[in-house]
Amino acid sequence: MLQVKNLTKIYRPKRGVPVTALNSVDLTLPETGMVFLLGKSGSGKSTLLNILGGLDRYNQGDILVMGKSTRHWRQSHFDSYRNTYVGFIFQEYNILNEFSVGANIALALQLQGQKPSSQKVNEILREVDLEGYGTRNPNELSGGQKQRVAIARALVKNPKIIMADEPTGALDSVTGRQVLNTLKKLSRDKLVIVVSHDREFAEQYADRIVELADGRVIRDVERLQADELVANAVPVYMEDSVSLPEEYVLTQADRNAICDYIQNMVNQGKQPKFSLFSKRSSAFQPTDESRIPPCREGYKLIRSRLPLKYAFKLGASGLKHKKFRLVMTILLSCIALGLFGLSDTITSYNYVKTAYGSLTDPDNQFTYAAFRKEMTHEDGWMGGSNRMTQKDLELIRRKTGLDVYPVYTASSYSLHSNIVGEGFYGNSYYMTGFSGCIQVSQQLLDHMDAKLIAGTLPAADDQAVVSEDVLETFREYGYRYYGSEQAREIRSAEDLLGLKIGSDTGYFTICGVVDTGIDLDRFEDLKETVLSEDMDFTEIVTMIALQFELDYARNYSLSGMLMVNEGFIKNSVSLGFLENLSWYASLESSNAYFGLSGLRPMQDSDTRKIVWLDGKHRDQLADNEIVLSYDAYTEGIKNYYGYLPEEYDFYRLQDTTGNYASLLELDLKLSCPETDYGYYEYDLSALAGTHELKLVGILPEGYSILLPDRFVDLAGDAAIQQTLSPMPSDNQQILDLVEFSDQEFTDGEWVTTYNMMNPVTFELKTLDVAFEVLSTVFFWIGMVFVVFSSLLFSNFIGISISYKKEQIGILRAIGSRGADVFRIFFAESFIIAMINFVLSFSGTVLVCWGINTLIKRYTGLLLTVLNVGIRQAVLLFAVCLLCAFVATYLPTRKIAAKRPIDAIRDR
Ligand code: ADP
Ligand code: MG
Repeated sequence: MLQVKNLTKIYRPKRGVPVTALNSVDLTLPETGMVFLLGKSGSGKSTLLNILGGLDRYNQGDILVMGKSTRHWRQSHFDSYRNTYVGFIFQEYNILNEFSVGANIALALQLQGQKPSSQKVNEILREVDLEGYGTRNPNELSGGQKQRVAIARALVKNPKIIMADEPTGALDSVTGRQVLNTLKKLSRDKLVIVVSHDREFAEQYADRIVELADGRVIRDVERLQADELVANAVPVYMEDSVSLPEEYVLTQADRNAICDYIQNMVNQGKQPKFSLFSKRSSAFQPTDESRIPPCREGYKLIRSRLPLKYAFKLGASGLKHKKFRLVMTILLSCIALGLFGLSDTITSYNYVKTAYGSLTDPDNQFTYAAFRKEMTHEDGWMGGSNRMTQKDLELIRRKTGLDVYPVYTASSYSLHSNIVGEGFYGNSYYMTGFSGCIQVSQQLLDHMDAKLIAGTLPAADDQAVVSEDVLETFREYGYRYYGSEQAREIRSAEDLLGLKIGSDTGYFTICGVVDTGIDLDRFEDLKETVLSEDMDFTEIVTMIALQFELDYARNYSLSGMLMVNEGFIKNSVSLGFLENLSWYASLESSNAYFGLSGLRPMQDSDTRKIVWLDGKHRDQLADNEIVLSYDAYTEGIKNYYGYLPEEYDFYRLQDTTGNYASLLELDLKLSCPETDYGYYEYDLSALAGTHELKLVGILPEGYSILLPDRFVDLAGDAAIQQTLSPMPSDNQQILDLVEFSDQEFTDGEWVTTYNMMNPVTFELKTLDVAFEVLSTVFFWIGMVFVVFSSLLFSNFIGISISYKKEQIGILRAIGSRGADVFRIFFAESFIIAMINFVLSFSGTVLVCWGINTLIKRYTGLLLTVLNVGIRQAVLLFAVCLLCAFVATYLPTRKIAAKRPIDAIRDR
């Protein structure tokens, strides 16, 4: 079974001289029988037993387990070997007080990977005369009972070897005998190795006695049964007694030896002792190891695996020792982890998420989804055009599924000329201009949840419907006709109907008033408040935020719009837009550059006045033909040369017939130079699809450039400044919108985005940089908190280990590997980690909610800035687990790597 060859163990204490505890021991132990290791204290008995049991390692020699050398075994092999084959019984019982008697026994089985049945546990208990003690708490048992529980635990896994180190040492002699009787019974089919210093017990129970002194075997005897004795009986001379076989005839040598023995005892002042053993009993003879049959079977080791249930129970048992510390650890690490969660929420700030969260916040109601185009050059230059064309509208429609309505510029219209009084300057509550023109229809109003509350939709090209906001303005300031001093009081929407709004440069008549549903109450404060020096920071922020919010709410909704019909857009918007363009063009023959303005389509009244260069009269201009007025023409040339060169003088070129044909010879061709994106001219020429226009006539009066009709349409298209759509009610669709607004479309060097025009997105874009900085800062703050909380954990586990040394020692002794020890502490950390997770995540959610509410309440921002989500939950969970793992791994690694004997001794 076990073979010891030349075994040497030298202890090298950190301080003091090395101790040779075992010195070249050779032994062969049989498969059954009771072997006593006898010797004085310090002779090396325990050392030998521990090494045989794999609790300690040897320095030299070898131990063969079932014929296999263990020289190259790692500690885990020895653990498995002990788990599989060895039942260890200690003087101090080593029962786990956390578990019932039954559970202690069951654990040994479970470490072997077996399922313990209560029947089996009871059976074992009966074998050690403790039937019915299964549910008892170890603390309620006497020493002898505890030792029998330890035996039962050793027995239950049916080990081939039982090792007991002074099992009776702590017991009175009667109970000691009981224990030895039990062991003796077991030795019939097991190898039982008992360490003892009690010779009497040894001689009574042993089948073999191996006596040690100073780490060496000084005597090795075996009990011979009577029949063996007949032939071989000889006296046995022991240190303090002599045994003689019955009816033995003394030889001369025997007589001399007996005389020596008596003399020796007398010299020491002791009584010589003699005993007789009968032929029918047994006696000890020097052991003949050659008679031990060789081991038959091979071995197979079972790796221990501490069941999770036990790991958790042991882990949890650690928690009850240090409640205060536990509460503090949990509290502090919860705060740390909560702050980490918060930090991560800030770190993971992301435009789409926040915008989405804020847009779908039930506190915020948005009726409109408006988009504006923004073109940026790849090197950051912002000069790109923000004009939209039908192509852009189409793209938005396709990507978002929205009904997209174009909104045209309305910059030439305002209420200023019709307002009485001065008070309103600097007050942004009242609407004074229009953010755009939109073609109105009942369908549009329905779509946008707006209601006509007075008048009708526009029937004529100079009529427009306005919003209640306009009513609000006139109600406050009164209305006056342009140029007049007289004010008229306006009380209701009906009072607005028929009023002429505008000045000489452009006007329209109000034909209807629409209730757009805008909630102006929210902006009431703006009526009175003006920014001033004695406002504090929050007030200023609040007010600015509110002001911007109103601007956005108004400008990107029907409230700020002139609602008109198609003719209005064509005549007033497109032509107005065209007229305001300035166009650089070059005269090809001379490279002269023209700065041209006053673009307009050719009208019938022009055709009669125009001098056609080729003499052919036209009612309409072809797509690439233009007509310049004389002034526009000469101004352009003068601008280039600084004066008007003779050859370009219009009058000098005029022949007697009043024909300008010679101008043709100059080959005047106008081409729009390649300009960068962004200028309206570009839009226009790009739209026109040509850069070359032929000068075909001169208009003798005025200052204009006459263009083919198609330019009106093109101008109309180029006058789209934004879109308006109803805000979808479906959250997924809102998310799509937000994602679309975050998308970049690259075309060559130009990057186009379609910004969502909304108070929320505006606030977000404004605060974007701040958030980005904050998120970096908070990332690191979060990291610090994580480290802090894992330190707290570590510390806690470190303390816990000192409380659990005993359990660890015991578990190691009965065959647990270092990995099992880790399991126990990880279970403990895991419990804490999960408490932490639940608390810290709830905390994060709560704090974020609080912060969001505070931000909304005190700054008036509409943003749901902090969005706690699954990400934070998963992250916190992972971090808690990681903390638990790291915190357990570091302090446990040392203790788990210990030799079992050190773990046991360390308690
Ligand atoms: P026994 O069990 O027979 O009383 P031990 O095997 O415990 O004796 O000890 C044998 C010798 O080894 C003794 O001299 C003891 O002091 C020494 N010894 C035992 N364990 C250690 C240890 N961990 N470190 C140093 N010396 C030790
Ligand atoms: Mg000892």
